[in-house]
Amino acid sequence: MRSIEKKYVKNYIPSVNGTIKKDFNLSRLTWFKVGGRAEVFFTPKDKDDLINFLKKLDKDAPLKILGAGSNILVRDGGIRGVTISLVKSFTEISYLKNQKVSAGAGVNCIKLSRECTSKSLTGLEFFSGIPGTVGGAIKMNAGAYGQETSDILEKVITVNRNGKVKEYNKKDLKMSYRKNSLRKGEIVIQAIFKCKIGKKITIQNNIKELKKRREKTQPVKLKTSGSTFKNPIKFKAWKLIKLSGCSNLKKGGAEVSSLHSNFLINYGVAKAKDVEDLGKIIIDKVKKKFGIKLDWEIKIVGTKNKYRKYFND
Ligand SMILES: Cc1cc2nc3c(=O)[nH]c(=O)nc-3n(C[C@H](O)[C@H](O)[C@H](O)COP(=O)(O)OP(=O)(O)OC[C@H]3O[C@@H](n4cnc5c(N)ncnc54)[C@H](O)[C@@H]3O)c2cc1C
Repeated sequence: MRSIEKKYVKNYIPSVNGTIKKDFNLSRLTWFKVGGRAEVFFTPKDKDDLINFLKKLDKDAPLKILGAGSNILVRDGGIRGVTISLVKSFTEISYLKNQKVSAGAGVNCIKLSRECTSKSLTGLEFFSGIPGTVGGAIKMNAGAYGQETSDILEKVITVNRNGKVKEYNKKDLKMSYRKNSLRKGEIVIQAIFKCKIGKKITIQNNIKELKKRREKTQPVKLKTSGSTFKNPIKFKAWKLIKLSGCSNLKKGGAEVSSLHSNFLINYGVAKAKDVEDLGKIIIDKVKKKFGIKLDWEIKIVGTKNKYRKYFND
């Protein structure tokens, strides 16, 4: 196998220093706690391991990236090809000159917010309620209460599908509401944020206030993926959903949250299909009532039926 792996060879899994798991259960790694298995689940040991893997991986192999699974619905049939996770190894936070903070893509946003608070750095307070990773926050341009990731971002480092490292300044990424220009398969490995010096007590109080507001209006302790649909221009998705009579809709084990109509909940027995079908019913009802087509904010990945194997054993 070693000689074969010098170059990429179709349908073979390159050897790695990190871990490769086959037919790996993904449901416990997502907030919805639904969905199938990854054909190959790769946790790179470090940046070089990731780069070498991508260089050797055949270019047709399907590739997905999973962060903290807080904005993703994995279908019941699972994910064909490779799913990559950086949450175990890309977890370094370091403090640079001029209140800049570097964070690995696997760092949890809540943790980053807490660490910056402890250093009296202000700017990332809104991350305190976003249960995703830094990589996921950049991909989604995550935001809350009037702030977005792009507001505080300075640079992003990625590895592309061919294993090439790239560095972007924020403006290169053309970030807007839950959007940016990163290419398909491009993996964020590190980000640099520009904070400011603040007063620790003020930062702490801001975070407390945001937490209170969130807990009053969002089911943050349930199996959900946050906002299901993007807000259409000039409208709030939750309001359109509520006014379309969807407040108490159910499908299998999935339900619309009674606290926030744009949150879907798995009450324990849902399948991914229930969540997706419930979302489709909502899209239809809102379209009929208001003529507005809701767009999914949640990323839906994988196949409905068990994935067809890509790799040879
Ligand atoms: C209770 C709750 C509250 C939430 N509140 C908010 C909120 O206030 N504001 C908000 O914006 N979101 C919110 N969310 C949604 C979610 O937390 C964010 O979208 C978050 O940024 C997703 O990060 P993640 O690591 O979980 O990504 P995942 O859900 O794992 O993936 C989401 C997308 O990002 C991609 N991705 C992940 N990591 C990388 C990487 N390293 N490189 C490239 N692509 C990557 C994935 O491929 C996928 O397309 C909430 C979710 C929950 C469950």
